[in-house]
Amino acid sequence: MKCPNCKKSIDKNEKLRVYGSARVTGIASLNEFWSNGVFWEPSDSSDEYILCPHCSEQVTLEELRIHNSKDIKDYLYHEFVSSTVETEEFKQFFRRYKSALKKALPDGLKIIDFYSNAFDGSGFITDGEHYVYFSFSDVRFLKNEWYHHILIRTAKHEKDYTGGTNQYTSLPKFGEDVQGLLDWMKR
Ligand SMILES: [Zn+2]
Repeated sequence: MKCPNCKKSIDKNEKLRVYGSARVTGIASLNEFWSNGVFWEPSDSSDEYILCPHCSEQVTLEELRIHNSKDIKDYLYHEFVSSTVETEEFKQFFRRYKSALKKALPDGLKIIDFYSNAFDGSGFITDGEHYVYFSFSDVRFLKNEWYHHILIRTAKHEKDYTGGTNQYTSLPKFGEDVQGLLDWMKR
């Protein structure tokens, strides 16, 4: 695994101190709490972190896992860090997403003008003659929609942002459904 900060390799078998968050929960009435306290149960959290042995920066385990992922599906259920500007994390996701979409398309189709807008994005696909517009929702709030709910619709040209009727597809069906729209426009 590579440290997202200094890019040096962290041995997965090296023992490291893991820092947990204090996000614990427990159930008790106020009386119970004041007389006996409460039994704290750890809750789901992706805040655990280590200090990189090379650069000593704080790296969350989730950040480490995502940074080193090879498969776009690793981003399913991932909580993106929010910000007013585009984050390094999102930029990396966007590069990987773009190449996954490219790979999903049949030969002869190409992606043009695919841009991100902080945490969502849109673009066009063409076979050289017809156009399909596509977009994905904000990855921070609409978790997994970039995978399961990609908007596609026919477009008259590569600046047509209004286009035809909205339809939805998923990453596994992306190539097939885009091709379907292009074929439909040829009739
Ligand atoms: Zn490091």
